[in-house]
Amino acid sequence: MSGELLSVEGLSKRFADRRRTVAALDDVTFSIGMGETLGIVGPSGSGKSTLARVLLRLVEPDAGRILIDGEDWRALSPKALRQRRGSIQMVFQDPLSAFNPRTTIGKAIMDPLRIHAIGNRGARHAAIANLLQRVGLPAEMAGRRIHEVSGGQRQRVALARALASRPRLVVLDEALSALDVSLRGKMLELLVRLQEEEGISFLFIGHDPAVVRMISHRVAVMDQGRIVETGDADAVFSDPQSQTGKALIAAIPTWR
Ligand code: ADP
Ligand code: MG
Repeated sequence: MSGELLSVEGLSKRFADRRRTVAALDDVTFSIGMGETLGIVGPSGSGKSTLARVLLRLVEPDAGRILIDGEDWRALSPKALRQRRGSIQMVFQDPLSAFNPRTTIGKAIMDPLRIHAIGNRGARHAAIANLLQRVGLPAEMAGRRIHEVSGGQRQRVALARALASRPRLVVLDEALSALDVSLRGKMLELLVRLQEEEGISFLFIGHDPAVVRMISHRVAVMDQGRIVETGDADAVFSDPQSQTGKALIAAIPTWR
């Protein structure tokens, strides 16, 4: 690991409806190194998905700074943002919702290539085959539709699409949670291999501490919009210091 890729300082976001105000993010500060995986764990509603969506600029924070390679992500001009937008990508739990059901898998992967103006048409076809191969899928899958393939294959397609714009950071929000144990293990292996080969950084959000521990170098524990504990994955999971961390570890079934 060499150098910091992402640095987040004092990120805050409140949601208000008629009845109450929720601090979904409350003064969140952390960083992720190049080629590093930071795991995020925390109970439901603790702000994990809001954090992911703020990083992807799907949600505008109320306060805070997001630095990527030292550049202030929120202060970028629209043009600069367009040029760099591909550098953070996301994979969701339910890939079906992120795909147009009518288009082929190849087209779905090609869209970001076109948007980021990577290569000409012929080069893009080769790029699609290459992306599918990198996530362990046959190139022929480009001609199929997303609902025609299995859940595990869908997540690989979603990952291939995320990789298309050559991201520096991929945010995985419960991305493996819907997969069965053996598929999840294969995806974890794939992620680790991609990271070794390409130095991608991951922000890995998961509800299963055992899975998060397997892939993460460091872990942050969230509760009510705050990071209540952070440290090396093995240290946090073997000897959590926060009440939230202790409760999460205590909830891991002992038969694992
Ligand atoms: P997690 O992913 O950890 O389960 P979320 O980030 O989804 O948590 O939610 C954090 C808190 O913010 C929750 O109380 C949730 O109800 C609230 N919240 C999230 N998104 C919205 C929204 N768009 N409008 C109102 N409240 C929201
Ligand atoms: Mg969530």
